[in-house]
Amino acid sequence: HYGGLKDQDRIFQNLYGHHGADLKSAMKYGDWHKTKEIILKGHDWARQFVLQQIISEIKASGLRGRGGAGFPSGLKWVRYVSNLASLQSAHGVDLKLTNVVQSFMNPKGWDLEKKPRYLIVNADEGEPGTCKDREIMRKDPHKLVEGCLVAGRSMNATAAYIYIRGEFYYEATVLQRAIQEAYQAGFIGKNACGSGYNFDVFIHRGMGAYVCGEETSLIESLEGKQGKPRLKPPFPAAVGLFGCPSTVANVETVAVAPTICRRGASWFAQFGRERNSGTKLFCISGHVNNPCTVEEEMSISLRELIDRHCGGVRGGWDNLKAIIPGGSSTPILPKHVCDDQMMDFDALKDSQSGLGTAAVIVMDKSTDVVRAISRLSTFYRHESCGQCTPCREGSKWTEQIMKRFEKGQAREREIDMLQELTKQVEGHSICALGEAFAWPLQGLIRHFRPELEARIKGFAEKSGGIALAGGWEHDA
Ligand code: SF4
Repeated sequence: HYGGLKDQDRIFQNLYGHHGADLKSAMKYGDWHKTKEIILKGHDWARQFVLQQIISEIKASGLRGRGGAGFPSGLKWVRYVSNLASLQSAHGVDLKLTNVVQSFMNPKGWDLEKKPRYLIVNADEGEPGTCKDREIMRKDPHKLVEGCLVAGRSMNATAAYIYIRGEFYYEATVLQRAIQEAYQAGFIGKNACGSGYNFDVFIHRGMGAYVCGEETSLIESLEGKQGKPRLKPPFPAAVGLFGCPSTVANVETVAVAPTICRRGASWFAQFGRERNSGTKLFCISGHVNNPCTVEEEMSISLRELIDRHCGGVRGGWDNLKAIIPGGSSTPILPKHVCDDQMMDFDALKDSQSGLGTAAVIVMDKSTDVVRAISRLSTFYRHESCGQCTPCREGSKWTEQIMKRFEKGQAREREIDMLQELTKQVEGHSICALGEAFAWPLQGLIRHFRPELEARIKGFAEKSGGIALAGGWEHDA
């Protein structure tokens, strides 16, 4: 049985603002405790490369990126930004494999060691339904600032850039204050925490584009250009911000790092299942009695999560119709799947959906799912940057088709066309936004096909069988 996290095991102690977000309060609750020891432990000054101790802890803890993709953080931090040659000797990595990785990551063979490295924190939380990073920055900003130092040190970065969503004005202000306090206390800046290591933290406010949450468009935007995703490779680990090796990590991932280092990898790994360990922030919205953001054990059942923290589904569990488990890009799941659904990366993948940002959107029986997904299509069409044809055109088409479904004006065979269209987009676009608009539609067809069909039939019956104004052919 998973779930029922005790208060003392919560990393984000101030999620509900019970104490201040200032440095004094943060320190009282454990932040910045022995940070100097963490960033000095195990460092090999002679070889001047990654701090193995932090990386080992993060690896052993099983932490996977909390921004949606769920990539193992220890691996990302060590493999991608640190010197691959040093890695070989330090970790006994297979030479051949490393050469392959190196040529893929860094095709031009630049000497990455000579360039500064950057940690970039993705605080552009724009995924519909998601409101967890916002809470961290509002209430527990010192966790993030300290996390920048610890994560940055582990990859030998010289600075962290926090790219924060433009709409988060208040959060940016709170965070800026926390950074200021950390500078004044000597925790960051020159000789951070008295460790001899220099490390700066900067905030950059975005301008409200959803696609800037994608790592390469975020980097473009940070450099002052239009936020349009880059083709990969080269990956940011080789050619990132200002052409330097960079790693982009989510707010929550970075903010949990100091606590993992302080309390130990095994403490973190005891929660959840293998490969899905740790605690996680879930944001639950929609038709529940008390929508909330809560830190819980990974692999908790969906039902327990909702009943324990949100006062249940509006009208009771039987009134549930569907959920979107991890922000709008993850496919919708009907009630019968939700009944035994565990909330972790692998379990949701098995259910043909995903944990994503763990933003659970609950829909009761009063919900018109066709309309809900149609609304998402409009969102993705609006946010497509227009660089690649499948996404630019595909998102327009799907929006038009979904609008017809909404009104019952589509033809039945358009269901298969819609499915085919989403399959054509999947994997054929520069960034993941293509998939992000395709997957919810696939989920709708997979689980709610009868509802789509009934919609068309119902409308046709009402209008005497001639309700097919406008159609695929018309738009094509
Ligand atoms: Fe732009 Fe869409 Fe292509 Fe991403 S997939 S680069 S958002 S057009």
